[in-house]
Formats: sequence, structure tokens, C-alpha cells
Amino acid sequence: MTAITCAQLVELVTDYLEGELDELTARRFEEHLALCSGCRTYVDQFRQVIQAAGQVAEDDLSWQARTHLLAAFRGWRER
Ligand SMILES: [Zn+2]
Repeated sequence: MTAITCAQLVELVTDYLEGELDELTARRFEEHLALCSGCRTYVDQFRQVIQAAGQVAEDDLSWQARTHLLAAFRGWRER
């Protein structure tokens, strides 16, 4: 039983917001969020992008949002 890392969280965020993580992974995801303000901000931004788009499963938009937010996330990590 190991905690997930920030990089793993970024990989899981789409599945998390779509409710597709298994229970244990979702719990680890939320445990990480509780401890990591950077990832909380990341997930909030990702959720807002998805809500603005009105759907989750639009592949092109998800990809663009992901790229944009990954860049923002890297910026946060390097600060
Ligand atoms: Zn984190």
C-alpha cells in the first residue's frame, strides 16, 4: 500500500472525475489531494474545464485541456 505521487495523480485525474477509478485508487487519490494543495488546484482547474465543455468524453478537448493543465502543473512543480 503506497501513496500515489503527483505524477500518478495527473495520470488518474480524468478517470477520477469520470468516476472510473476503483475504490482503493479513488481513496488514495483523495488522500493525496488532502495533503497536496498543488494537486487540489490542478483537479479543480481540470473539473472547471470539463464543466465548461459540458461533457467529459470529448477526446480532442480532453486532450487539449490535459496538455494545457499539464503545462500549468509542471510550472507549479518547478516553482
Ligand atoms: Zn500532489
